[in-house]
Amino acid sequence: MGNAGNAFDLVVVGLGAMGAAALYHARRQGLRVLGIDRHRPPHELGSTHAETRITRLAVGEGAPYLPFVRRSHELWRDLEARSGEQLLHQSGGLIVTGPGSRPGARWADFTSATARIAREAGIGFDLLDASTATARYPAIVGLDRHQVGFEPTGGIVMAERALSVQLTLAEADGAIVHTDETVDDVVPGGDHVDVVTDRDSYRSHHVVLSTGPWVRELADPSDGALTSVTRQVVYWFEVDDPDAFTIERFPFVMWIGASDAEYLGVFPIPPGGTSALKVLGEQFESTTDPETVDRTVSPSEIDAFYEHCVEPRIAGVNRRCVRATVCLYTNTPDDHFLIDSDPRSDHITVMSPCSGHGFKHSAALGEAVAERVATGTSTLDLDPFRRRRFAV
Ligand SMILES: Cc1cc2nc3c(=O)[nH]c(=O)nc-3n(C[C@H](O)[C@H](O)[C@H](O)COP(=O)(O)OP(=O)(O)OC[C@H]3O[C@@H](n4cnc5c(N)ncnc54)[C@H](O)[C@@H]3O)c2cc1C
Repeated sequence: MGNAGNAFDLVVVGLGAMGAAALYHARRQGLRVLGIDRHRPPHELGSTHAETRITRLAVGEGAPYLPFVRRSHELWRDLEARSGEQLLHQSGGLIVTGPGSRPGARWADFTSATARIAREAGIGFDLLDASTATARYPAIVGLDRHQVGFEPTGGIVMAERALSVQLTLAEADGAIVHTDETVDDVVPGGDHVDVVTDRDSYRSHHVVLSTGPWVRELADPSDGALTSVTRQVVYWFEVDDPDAFTIERFPFVMWIGASDAEYLGVFPIPPGGTSALKVLGEQFESTTDPETVDRTVSPSEIDAFYEHCVEPRIAGVNRRCVRATVCLYTNTPDDHFLIDSDPRSDHITVMSPCSGHGFKHSAALGEAVAERVATGTSTLDLDPFRRRRFAV
């Protein structure tokens, strides 16, 4: 075991969206904290890059998420006030569900689910007919027979900027951050956990494992078995008129089709962002690993996505792809989060298998996990995300 300077109340392993938020809030709780990352966040190798993430208060994924996204919006504004950087842009957002969306399929009937949640929670969400939606946003075409809903409070969060702001402020508040250091093992003791890295070892009262798609390396094997990692691609296509797609004039769009291959996510251009339209698809069929995933995006992959998902739906977008990057989802079998004590020790919390929709909740999840470590309980209820729902 290392020297006394290597003793902490909390070591956060992995400083992506989840770990950065946990570190920031743990320090605000007064804990002696160390954050360790094998790379130098923000980086492009995990799940928290590509400039922006969609956020919406009416989260059709289910009522347990609502307090987290609401609180996260407050926390982004707090972080903006502390840092002077704008992180949350409430451009509004469209949820579009196409005909043929199969009952029971991922995202099935998502516009209706979102409308229901919005109604119950008193969040503004307007169902629009196709002609009204197209009149408002002429670039969006082919909406006939689709169900369309608009949330004015939705928008985008600057992903890497939010991560950096939290790490910078955490350090300014007294947290210690080690980058380019890999945690090789976490070894539970009676009332502590030893964290062994490729550089040193540390003793901590508690450890948060927020290693995203690397979850299987350090988590209990039973948690590893519950997660699957998939390769997703984000593209930026050239547009005729970038001004027509900025946050002042264009919403985010979540466009759900009849199958996963029909999914299209569209992101407005934020100030200082790549001057092109950011879009992404989804696939869950082929799983991968962050160390072996193919990070190249081939010209044929770009062409196929443009022709299949972009060209028929968004006008004024050209075939030329100016940028593309691979990003990783870490999903559980029911696509909901896994945040819980580790089966090996109550002194370890697993917090980052967040199934491709975690960013919008990350600030509040970090706060709740930090509170739980500091006090044994959290203001917002983390119970729905425990693994016991998978027990047979
Ligand atoms: C393409 C894409 C689009 C998305 N869109 C949205 C969206 O619009 N809205 C939304 O809410 N969510 C979205 N998500 C989901 C959201 O971005 C993720 O849930 C979130 O970013 C996950 O963050 P994380 O901290 O769990 O993982 P990561 O960001 O991957 O962080 C894990 C960190 O752990 C470090 N690490 C791993 N192993 C070790 C080790 N042994 N030692 C030290 N460090 C280690 C890694 O270097 C990494 O920095 C999207 C995800 C993707 C991929």
